[in-house]
Amino acid sequence: MENEKIKQTKNIVCNDKCCPIHGNMSLRGRSFRGTVIRKFPKRIVIEFDRTIYIKKYERYAKRKTKLHARLPECMFNEINLGDYAEITECRPISKIIHFIATKKINVESGGKKQWKV
Ligand SMILES: [Zn+2]
Repeated sequence: MENEKIKQTKNIVCNDKCCPIHGNMSLRGRSFRGTVIRKFPKRIVIEFDRTIYIKKYERYAKRKTKLHARLPECMFNEINLGDYAEITECRPISKIIHFIATKKINVESGGKKQWKV
């Protein structure tokens, strides 16, 4: 056979046991989207707004939530500071980490509205 094509898949070595794709972690529970505000070798911190209702003033107030998430080795180059990323709940990995970063979301497709006069 002459047509031996060697398909080169992306040579990302992922030895992360906590990777939902290459390891044996199962994802379940809730997922959140937010902006990446911190990045560590194996961890990111995302932040997002939520609105709560304050009964006394009959108005809504903004609060922020920070969540720590495991960053799998294969996602390390994909997700950077300031990105909009999605994380999904898993079993507790450590005291503060019970989420895993699953994907980066392109803000361009999810639309800032352009105002036309
Ligand atoms: Zn992986």
